[in-house]
Amino acid sequence: MQRERELSCGVVIVAAGRGERAGASTEGPKQYRRIGGRPVIAWTLDAFATWGKAGPIVIVIHSDDEALLETALATCRPRPVVTIVPGGATRQASVLAGLKALSEHGVDYAMIQDAVRPFITPDLLDRCLEKLSAGFDAVLPTIPVTDTLKRASAIGDVQETVSRDRLFAAQTPQCFVLSKILDAHEAAASSGRSDFTDDASIAEWAGIPVALVEGSADNVKLTTRQDLLMADEKLSGRRIDVRTGNGYDVHQLVPGDGVTLCGIFMPHDQSLLGHSDADVALHALTDALLATCGAGDIGDHFPPSDDRWKGAASRIFLEHAAEIVRRHGGVVMNADISLIAEAPKIGPHRDAMRQALSQMLGISLDRCSVKATTNEKIGFVGRREGIAAIATATVSFPDGFR
Ligand code: MG
Repeated sequence: MQRERELSCGVVIVAAGRGERAGASTEGPKQYRRIGGRPVIAWTLDAFATWGKAGPIVIVIHSDDEALLETALATCRPRPVVTIVPGGATRQASVLAGLKALSEHGVDYAMIQDAVRPFITPDLLDRCLEKLSAGFDAVLPTIPVTDTLKRASAIGDVQETVSRDRLFAAQTPQCFVLSKILDAHEAAASSGRSDFTDDASIAEWAGIPVALVEGSADNVKLTTRQDLLMADEKLSGRRIDVRTGNGYDVHQLVPGDGVTLCGIFMPHDQSLLGHSDADVALHALTDALLATCGAGDIGDHFPPSDDRWKGAASRIFLEHAAEIVRRHGGVVMNADISLIAEAPKIGPHRDAMRQALSQMLGISLDRCSVKATTNEKIGFVGRREGIAAIATATVSFPDGFR
């Protein structure tokens, strides 16, 4: 049943619940409570961003929670692009609303994820996607039940011990061929069923076979106040893996009409010579970013022998390096460039250059630095034969010391 082309996979994050079991809080429902300094749902979104294979993301929320979601999204770097959909009266109705919105994006698969399961890993998501790609219509991550199970009477005395043989606890993301689960949800709604507590059970009801994949013991659903406290401790205690990369570049100056530095063109009586637009500043920073995850240098990714990069705007190189960093799970903390040039004067353009960096990297302006110095008329820079740039990038990686 191997499918021939790679199919696209969207995500529905269910975040409309009120979270009563976690008790009242000024931070709102539990998906917006802070763990490790950020709302739970922000960590869930980060997990999909780190995985890097998710297509469009739909978040189903309660209409009261728009501002809470906005606050959570603002803590993600870069801010994820999401479609926000109002939820229904039940979880089931909320998921249906999310699936309908996702179907407008034309994706093949849907991963339906609880907002309050922030500890999903790329491995788990890969297992789910591989199973879908192998031709299964419904995929459920589970873990075997390890506790001994008791059935009790209404007054709380044990009536029997339930065999845990072949018993599994269901997790999310529950993953489906989008058209099949959407049909099943619509059939359930129109037949008056509104009591399903997860999506795999709707698939089962509709006669869709559900394949199991190995879940993860870490993939807990944060339900109680204790769960939130333990999650906060886990994230706050994480070892921080901060890495620094440096980069250096030089381009030759020739007679011309101006130079492009940090993506900003400035008129000048010389131009920089190069295969691309010869933006030394962005080339140095691209190398610095690549260095933080051992990903080679700019020449490995964009060989000068390749005609595609002739005259190219160097922001392409920088954005590609930033994407590689993100795929490694990194978050750019700081970018610092020093330009070494006798002329033109950099000062008047510095703010525009910093703003360009901020926009290209998706980080705040105070994390972007551009400095300039002359070379005191000494050497090749002093003789106005070229411009040099050195750059430093600082990137934090989430899991530390892998
Ligand atoms: Mg260069």
